[in-house]
Amino acid sequence: MNVVKVQASIGLKYYKGVIDGSLFDEVVWLSEKLKDVRVCHINATSYGGGVAEILQKEIPLAKGLGLKFDWKTISASPEFFDITKKIHNGLQGADVKISAKEWQTYQNCNTDQVGRINPNDYDVFFVHDPQPAEIISCIGKNGAKWVWRCHIDTAKPNQAIANYFLKFLNMYDASIFTMREYVLKGMEEESFIIEPAIDPLAIKNRHLTRKEAERLVRGFHVDTGRPLVAQISRFDPWKDPMGVVDAYKIAKKKIPGLQLAMIGSMADDDPEGMKIYRELKKYAGNDKDIYVLTNHDALHDLEVNAFQTFSDAIIQKSTREGFGLTVSEALWKETPVIGGNVGGIPTQIRDGETGFLVNNVEECAEKIIYLVQNKDIAKEMGKLGKEDIRKNFLLPRLLRDELKLIEKLVD
Ligand code: UDP
Repeated sequence: MNVVKVQASIGLKYYKGVIDGSLFDEVVWLSEKLKDVRVCHINATSYGGGVAEILQKEIPLAKGLGLKFDWKTISASPEFFDITKKIHNGLQGADVKISAKEWQTYQNCNTDQVGRINPNDYDVFFVHDPQPAEIISCIGKNGAKWVWRCHIDTAKPNQAIANYFLKFLNMYDASIFTMREYVLKGMEEESFIIEPAIDPLAIKNRHLTRKEAERLVRGFHVDTGRPLVAQISRFDPWKDPMGVVDAYKIAKKKIPGLQLAMIGSMADDDPEGMKIYRELKKYAGNDKDIYVLTNHDALHDLEVNAFQTFSDAIIQKSTREGFGLTVSEALWKETPVIGGNVGGIPTQIRDGETGFLVNNVEECAEKIIYLVQNKDIAKEMGKLGKEDIRKNFLLPRLLRDELKLIEKLVD
């Protein structure tokens, strides 16, 4: 188990004027009430993907409010992450089989965390996603309250895999899912619905002028005089990267100058990333207008921000998606989003008003063409989208929801 060092704590006061006053007051009040409750978040990785993204920002905000929030990641082998990616895919519905030996490896790694964390040190544990989920049965609850926080789309899970998890998920005092339809059948304790959120103060989300964004995007040899669309996601089959390339190719017939950026970070706990990256590069072929970029190309938060700000549209063509922070991130920058009509994406996009929900490659291509050819409408859509995100999907709201749950559990 590794203790994750986060950036310095940040005061809620910096969110004043961004979030509503009533939310501000509620967060202050709850924080004051719960300031002695010791909370530990446990997940698989401190870098890459949505969970790490959220915790990197939430822990400093909680600390700034005087809350006792810690964050730890499990120590695990690459073999373990190969297995947990299969488990992740299975929980999202893939037809995968986990052998008895693989389950044993999974359990051994969770058991290995025993001794690296003292359950008496905390009052509430938030355990994120499947990787560390069995820790509860290995360590024992020891009087603490335990919450399993599921970030993935478990609406139609592979039942054999779900059944393995249910054995110990039911030891938890509560669970959190992003949407009601994700709640696994067979969960006995109460399940809460809390949507994730983005941090408006993060480098990734702070305001960039169009000029600043353009300069940064140009640094990757993109021709900023021609249209650009981008998908920013882990390289993962559920994000349908090849489908995005197909949609781009169709749209390019109508808009010959069109460019596509496919940007993905290599998450420490996602062994599929490199494989899909290579497949995608091959699939893109020698089209010089497709840019396949990663964090290994010096493309970090500021540059992600620039692509989300500067693109004519952001695509998130997922076929399964727990939530999809990238959708909120783009709308926050007033860039309309073309999103797969799945999972948490429709809760963020108002179809036809702040972006489009698409069901296949052809629809995605059609909406790319529309947004590139109707820049004024696209701009208006982006503006509306920003206000939706401000109201619903900014970090203090997420913290408030978690604090309300903690309040309920420790009362
Ligand atoms: N991300 C990034 N660089 C990349 C690709 C993705 O920083 O090259 C970030 C993205 O901005 C978002 C997170 O990774 O904050 C992905 O979260 P999301 O909920 O969209 O998907 P997940 O990876 O959790 O499935």
